[in-house]
Amino acid sequence: MKIIFISIGFIFLIFIVVTIFNTFTTKSVQPTAEPTDISIDQEAALKRFSTALTYQTISYQDRTKFNFEEFDQFITLLEESYPEVHQQLEREKVNQYSLIYLWKGTDSTQKPIGFTSHYDVVPVLEGTENNWEQPPFSGNVVDGVIWGRGTLDDKLGVIGLLEAVDYLLEQDYQPTRDVYFMFGFDEEIGGDQGAKAIVETLKNRGVTFEFILDEGGAIVENMVPGVSNPVGVVGISEKGSATAELMIEGSGGHSSQPEDRTNIGRIARAIARLEEKQFKADLRGPGEELFEYVAPEMNFGMKYVFANKFLFEPIIEKILLQQPASAAMIRTTIAPTIFQAGEQYNALPEKATAFVNLRIMPGEPLEEVKDFIVDTIDDKGIKVSISGSEASNVSSSNSKAFQSIQQAARNVYGDVVIAPYLMFAGSDAKHYEAISENTYRFLPVKLTSEDLQRMHGTNEQISIENYINAIKFYVEMIRLSNKM
Ligand SMILES: [Zn+2]
Repeated sequence: MKIIFISIGFIFLIFIVVTIFNTFTTKSVQPTAEPTDISIDQEAALKRFSTALTYQTISYQDRTKFNFEEFDQFITLLEESYPEVHQQLEREKVNQYSLIYLWKGTDSTQKPIGFTSHYDVVPVLEGTENNWEQPPFSGNVVDGVIWGRGTLDDKLGVIGLLEAVDYLLEQDYQPTRDVYFMFGFDEEIGGDQGAKAIVETLKNRGVTFEFILDEGGAIVENMVPGVSNPVGVVGISEKGSATAELMIEGSGGHSSQPEDRTNIGRIARAIARLEEKQFKADLRGPGEELFEYVAPEMNFGMKYVFANKFLFEPIIEKILLQQPASAAMIRTTIAPTIFQAGEQYNALPEKATAFVNLRIMPGEPLEEVKDFIVDTIDDKGIKVSISGSEASNVSSSNSKAFQSIQQAARNVYGDVVIAPYLMFAGSDAKHYEAISENTYRFLPVKLTSEDLQRMHGTNEQISIENYINAIKFYVEMIRLSNKM
């Protein structure tokens, strides 16, 4: 008996030693910040951005509603605002409104690098115009804040990048690699004529990139529990988006003598079964990498848990599943969005349909997702079909490009933690997969959760400080990635 006690005590001691050892050997993977020396002419940069925001370059689902005059004028404005850029770089139009700028490097044997953004914006929802504190296309600057549709999504990217090039040209900087800047005009409706066409054009020329940087995650305070510094997240993959249709037909009839199982009842049961079971949660891929990057920055308790993930994984997953936002990071999500059946209160509908929107984890083919649904609902009478897109590839967070993003962000923002993550929203970046092994999604600004809600909503805005810092980030990023 005594021997058993001793050996249990011994095992427990080893357990403590190993887990504590793991905790203390978890080292930060953040590069040391080298504070930036860039000084931007704020007033001039502000005026150019402000003017760019007054153009109503709106994307509509219905392409016939596009007002291309505004797009044309916006392109002219870019030429007028950045004469030096237009003189030194080659500019090309694809589908008339997409723009490719090529800045020739000194060494064409190296792979080029690419920055992408879009200058179309989402419409202002009808009836909400008056809720704006400053008109949405005013570009007004009030109390250190720039107002307008596109301040964050994503004229910031277009103007921020051109400002960065303008600054570097003034400094007589010359890149080593060829640097491409690619601006789409229909990202908000999928980018088919913009980013996709740009990619086709470059692909036909055999251009492939070392990396592509697009919009995406931002730096947010209090984002990760247990981490006191703001965390900036760089999307290394985006989830797929698909819709499953569940449909049952036949056996209508009078409501006075229903069968035990009606069409509505069966579709409802199918949905209930899906919600009950859910897709399998698994902390892997970009979600897992996020924690590998933030764990070293956590307080002792959290660090202890994440440094010993091999032990605590089930507990971590349980915690993540408690909040929809963190649950979406580790599993394919199910969202029933449309339910259609019946017209008359005393007649059983002959047909019932439900649509379920799915956000799919990387590495899960549509066929597998469909099989899971069919197996789970377990009703042969219900026809299941699925359409949409799978998740993107997963880019490397160990690349020099990723390290450059970290370095550039820390040079500008100081003690922020930069980590990879899985993006839920779609972006133009997915199109670039065809010509770049690594695509990163990062918006170099420090935001609050309120800012994030304003992005496609009312009162979209950005602080002057963020705007200037975004320019500095792009300058740093162009310089650093040319040293890779
Ligand atoms: Zn966008």
